[in-house]
Amino acid sequence: MDDLLHGTRDKRGNWTPNDPARPAPIWHRPFNLKKVLKWIPEYFWPWNAFHMATALLWVLVLIPSWESLQSLSWENYFYLYALNAFGLIVFLGGFELVYYVKRKQETRFKYNSKFPSDHPSDVFWFKSQNIDNFMRTIFVTTPFWTVVEIIMLWAYANSWAVWVPWTTHWAWLTFVVFLSPAIHEVYFFCLHRLIHVPILYKWIHSVHHNSINPSPWSSLSMHPGEGFPYMAEAWLHLLFPSNPVCAYFTLHSSGFGAVNGHLGFEKFEITKTTTLKSHAYVHYLHHKYFEVNYGGDGVIPLDMLFGTWHDGSKEADERMKERFRKKKEKLRAKQVTKAGKPAT
Ligand SMILES: [Zn+2]
Ligand SMILES: [Zn+2]
Repeated sequence: MDDLLHGTRDKRGNWTPNDPARPAPIWHRPFNLKKVLKWIPEYFWPWNAFHMATALLWVLVLIPSWESLQSLSWENYFYLYALNAFGLIVFLGGFELVYYVKRKQETRFKYNSKFPSDHPSDVFWFKSQNIDNFMRTIFVTTPFWTVVEIIMLWAYANSWAVWVPWTTHWAWLTFVVFLSPAIHEVYFFCLHRLIHVPILYKWIHSVHHNSINPSPWSSLSMHPGEGFPYMAEAWLHLLFPSNPVCAYFTLHSSGFGAVNGHLGFEKFEITKTTTLKSHAYVHYLHHKYFEVNYGGDGVIPLDMLFGTWHDGSKEADERMKERFRKKKEKLRAKQVTKAGKPAT
């Protein structure tokens, strides 16, 4: 497929889509009902539908009996951990293998023309982004993911959380599922914005930002101070009438769903004419520029509200530079005032 029909490639080989990123059509003005109706299936298909499918698989087939989950056991913990690690190895490892190791699509639709494995760097364990990111995902974030999961199951198994059944509360639970991706964006924005506060960034979030050119294993490559609260979003379901399937939908949207922002490609070629949209661009720009796009794709466009939205266009670039310049000026003025000299 000719990716230059959909974007441009610069001298370094980096590809930029023709269409700047836009928030969800519900926020477009003038409001266009046709666009909104067309967008609703896209909201679920295929990524959120996949997270719902894995949520159902876990709750209906894979998790231990509710009776055994009434108490915390290492046996259940390690079983659930193994499931999560296996799921990640298949899912993230699948993208890594096909698009980064075999390079099936080469650099077509790839934002950054470089592949991390071709560029060893001292910031990573063993100088390798892939090994570093893989190890942090499997041995740091996944154990915390499993802590969140087993405590969530423990609370449901002991009826400490209000568990309403689908048969009687299907309308409410459908509403919860519909709203969950939007809540995820708000939760992620708040947590992410917080860990960009300089001191927290230095100690916690910089680990994730080591990957300036993110690849699938970068998704959950996090410091525990980020990985644990990030996965703990699923605990929100314990605070209102919900259901383990809905809680798992959130848990898996955070866990498996983190891959979307780190795929590095705009689209994947499925057949000669069909592509799969990655939804990676907005978060790719965050890894590239650091101080833009703290939230997600724009289901709830908080970045627009706070002036940190970057859609990939030259105009957005100028706005970002202007914001950085003003910030620098402010900082300089503060330093001068502190030093006892009049600010100029
Ligand atoms: Zn990221
Ligand atoms: Zn960040």
